[in-house]
Amino acid sequence: MPTSKLNDSIQFLKSVGPKRAEVFASCGLKTIRDLLFYFPSRYLDRTTIISSNKAFDLTLNGFDGEITIIAKVVNKESRRFGKKEILTVNLRDQDGFFSCVWFQGVKYFKDRFESGQLFAISGKPTISKFNELQFTHPDFDQITEDESQTFYNTGKIIPFYRISKELKSKNIGDLSLRKIITYAIDGYINDVEETLPDFILQKHNLLSLKETVKQKHYPDSDGKIRLADLRLKFEELFYLEILVAARKHNYKEKVPGLALPVRTKVVHDFLKILPFELTEAQKKVLHDIRIDMANIQPMNRLLQGDVGSGKTIVALISMLITIDNGYQAVLMAPTEILADQHSKNITLLMEKFNEVFPSYKINVSLLIGGQKKSERNKQLESIVLHEANIIIGTHALFEETVQFKNLGLVVIDEQHRFGVVQRALLMKKGTTPDVLVMSATPIPRTLSMTVYGDLDISIINEMPKNRIPIKTYLRGESRLPDIYSFVIKELEKGNQSFIVYPLVEESEKLELKAATSYYNELKETYFKEINVGLIHGKMKWREKEEIMFLFAEKKLDVLISTTVIEVGIDIQSANIMIINDAHRFGLSQLHQLRGRIGRGTEQSYCILVTKDEFVASSQRVTRNLEYLSSAQIEKYKSSVRLQSMVKHLDGFKIAEIDLKLRGPGDIFGIQQSGFPEFRYVDITTDGEILIEAKREAFTIIEQDPQLRNKQHDIIRKHLIDHYSNNLKYARIA
Ligand code: ADP
Ligand code: MG
Repeated sequence: MPTSKLNDSIQFLKSVGPKRAEVFASCGLKTIRDLLFYFPSRYLDRTTIISSNKAFDLTLNGFDGEITIIAKVVNKESRRFGKKEILTVNLRDQDGFFSCVWFQGVKYFKDRFESGQLFAISGKPTISKFNELQFTHPDFDQITEDESQTFYNTGKIIPFYRISKELKSKNIGDLSLRKIITYAIDGYINDVEETLPDFILQKHNLLSLKETVKQKHYPDSDGKIRLADLRLKFEELFYLEILVAARKHNYKEKVPGLALPVRTKVVHDFLKILPFELTEAQKKVLHDIRIDMANIQPMNRLLQGDVGSGKTIVALISMLITIDNGYQAVLMAPTEILADQHSKNITLLMEKFNEVFPSYKINVSLLIGGQKKSERNKQLESIVLHEANIIIGTHALFEETVQFKNLGLVVIDEQHRFGVVQRALLMKKGTTPDVLVMSATPIPRTLSMTVYGDLDISIINEMPKNRIPIKTYLRGESRLPDIYSFVIKELEKGNQSFIVYPLVEESEKLELKAATSYYNELKETYFKEINVGLIHGKMKWREKEEIMFLFAEKKLDVLISTTVIEVGIDIQSANIMIINDAHRFGLSQLHQLRGRIGRGTEQSYCILVTKDEFVASSQRVTRNLEYLSSAQIEKYKSSVRLQSMVKHLDGFKIAEIDLKLRGPGDIFGIQQSGFPEFRYVDITTDGEILIEAKREAFTIIEQDPQLRNKQHDIIRKHLIDHYSNNLKYARIA
């Protein structure tokens, strides 16, 4: 970190001193810089403040926006209804009375209000049955008479800060914090150094950093707050994308790859033995891949497509092109059972191919744990000798000492975790094979641009034509007997069912149904006459494989399962998916599970089973989300998830809803994916800024990969000061 007055301790600020500085330090505010960049969590704008009378009229006429009223507390009362306690606070402004009610956290809110205190109350009010204006769980801020005067007499917007418990306990509230921050701005604002070059500020109409800091604390207008936010978001995304661009540039330029000319004959020959036509989307994606492969720079492509969209065939064709050029191809699956399944399907297809076109000599080898030593050695040998040209396994393929003779392509299936670091490992092994990552998690574009920023992206946005859309229903548990009868009735037509439960063993705490105990019960009751199998994550893959095999052979009619069948498994005659305790599953997980059916030529059904009361509540998904307690929101969220499943089949649509409900960090698990934690950016809404910042960053790196130009000095310096950990694969420092 460069020397700067901003690194001074805040204890020398007027009215701080060593004692208070210690408290500030305990919440991460140590230096002047920390304080200057400690931005308000929200603002009160005079223009949204109205009188209680006006608010009453507006609400009566159906106005549905946020309203703020400044008023004094008259009194408060709390009443008990059985176990529940309800708090009512009555307030008055110059025009009249209104009230606020709390159903949750009454103990806490009760102590926040004393009669005579002045508050700014914000929220969406309603008209109560006593014909009175009422806020339920509103936002509120205690303010001083002075502030209320400011509201009315000047156009000023008042900042409100998040005040930690520690600060509160030392009597540092909004008022004193505002004062201290004012001292910091007055004394130090001119020491704030710009972190973006001037030409970028000009080009994108961004405020300077100084102005941004000033406007964040003391905005001249709403518009200025937005401009300040824009500048902060742009900067955050710009530096992220500079790193991405540099990494990508490095990978493309510095690493020798393979140029594999596509002899189209192999593709044509393979298509001849394929029992179906490729979809337009598959053809388009294949076209992208072929261009990449022919290029000397290594391919580094993400193939995105919803479950069942036919990614595997595309991958297989890419592998055949690789092999046709004399190289080996690897297919890496996330689990052994999936590797096993890929191996079976691909072997079948390749047997047919070899029969018709023996000259290609395709030889599939499977390498997974649990194989006999002799079997394993045989496979390893065939890989070294290049007898095997399609090698299928899990990621263990790379961790172990598997010797490839001549590796040309690595296909990675359903594995988001295979990231920058692993690719860097591949680079180390000499010539860099082409890499194709396949993902069925249809993440929204803005997210994939950040998570997979250095990959090129191809999307299969079309399902094979023969598919019949799956019908999805939401049912209460009380309907289970009917559902079981339905399963048996469908069985008479040859249709098999999956029944999924959330956990392997009964967990008393969560009261979740366990696959094992339900398997035992159903076998003795509803499904006495039919063949039921059980599969769960604690089985060895051999056991799982055996069960899957029996199911595929129709020796089993119903397969009871935990989520181990979530990814990849492909059994066409299974077209009923029953998911128990569906409210417990995440949206993308539900979508993945549903993707296991709907692959055959029969109508498929997905039945989401949940508590009876959830079925009712999910149907009246309320609009007033902000009034709900966190417990209620949990309930509400599962309603949204379940209803989204009923409404939508499109994985991208579902992913977008999921992102809104959970936020990006949750979707990927921040560590796993290297997904950045943003301070200012909300990736669900800032897509346009991202695109602009990305374009700028990529242009700069293209023109000046090492940032040696004078006008890029600020960028290089800022990267070295603040992102040194991330520069490893970027070659800038
Ligand atoms: P995913 O994208 O989920 O990996 P798969 O590649 O497993 O999908 O394909 C799902 C099923 O659809 C497979 O049985 C596959 O053979 C079949 N399939 C793939 N492409 C087509 C197509 N163009 N027309 C008809 N069926 C197809
Ligand atoms: Mg697949």
